[in-house]
Amino acid sequence: MQIEAAWFQQQVLNWYDQHGRKTLPWQQNKTPYRVWISEIMLQQTQVSTVIPYFERFMQRFPSVADLAAADIDEVLHLWTGLGYYARARNLHKAAKQLVQDFNGDFPATVESVADLPGIGRSTAGAILSLSRGVPAPILDGNVKRVLARFFALEGWTGSTANLKQLWSWSEALTPVERVGDFNQVMMDLGAMVCVRSRPLCDACPLQAKCTAYAEGRTTELPASKPKKDKPVRDTWMLILQAPDGRVQLTRRPDAGIWGGLHSFPEFDSRDAAEQQLALTNISAEIEDWTSFRHTFSHYHLNIHPLFVALPASAAAVSENALWYHPGLAEQVGLSAPVKTLLDRLF
Ligand code: SF4
Repeated sequence: MQIEAAWFQQQVLNWYDQHGRKTLPWQQNKTPYRVWISEIMLQQTQVSTVIPYFERFMQRFPSVADLAAADIDEVLHLWTGLGYYARARNLHKAAKQLVQDFNGDFPATVESVADLPGIGRSTAGAILSLSRGVPAPILDGNVKRVLARFFALEGWTGSTANLKQLWSWSEALTPVERVGDFNQVMMDLGAMVCVRSRPLCDACPLQAKCTAYAEGRTTELPASKPKKDKPVRDTWMLILQAPDGRVQLTRRPDAGIWGGLHSFPEFDSRDAAEQQLALTNISAEIEDWTSFRHTFSHYHLNIHPLFVALPASAAAVSENALWYHPGLAEQVGLSAPVKTLLDRLF
């Protein structure tokens, strides 16, 4: 890692010298206060959006003390449009704490800065490294992505084990000299070159030793956050087929899933379907077809088809029903599962 770190640092610092952003408002007069405000504003927000907000904020609150003395309503007013308002409330709280405990200045250690409201280890590292040259590693979303690809880290970058690994890589790679430039360029690389989709590897100073690039896995890494298990629901679809071959469909309500489409009558249980049949005095065998699953964006639906070949004497189970046959070319909408079931019949 020693040689790797020296190579890595040199590559990204050279890139910084040639391409790095150096003229943004918070890159002038880099005090901990100015870096702090910019870092918080830049969370989840684009640079171009942040610039006017940063300038207005600095004009109104040029120091920690000014921010601490302000009314929270005014702070929130200046934040209007930036979103994630907890950030503004935390800035205000932290400014008060800085005035109370540190005389309006920033403490010297990453741990003390990270203890302030709304500031984690990475932001604390950015504040102290960018403004004072404290050799502290950072690990924001951009840096995570660069490192995850460079080392071809498997799995989601937010898991405990992966975070530990990413921090240890960031620590090992962060230099003592020019740490502010290094951290700045790592964030810039993630934002400008090693972007989420379609990274610009041909413009990347790390390409020669990047594992994801070498293995052709730059689009698949880093893996996205595992999705939570979707809930599973069940429905019993009653397929009633008349002796002439037609099947009964009913129109679904306009609101809800498959709104306005035609479907088989649905029930919450097999018993409920059976009861409905009994009510209409239909004496016919229920044939259980193989169940299958239809997946929506927010849940899985297990569909249990119940097939009944109606005797000639049977009445319709449901009012407002359509007796459907594909040959009759009825102009109705059908959901995908209903279409699948009809394909089994015709
Ligand atoms: S080579 Fe591509 S994938 Fe690797 S760090 Fe650079 S931009 Fe990211």
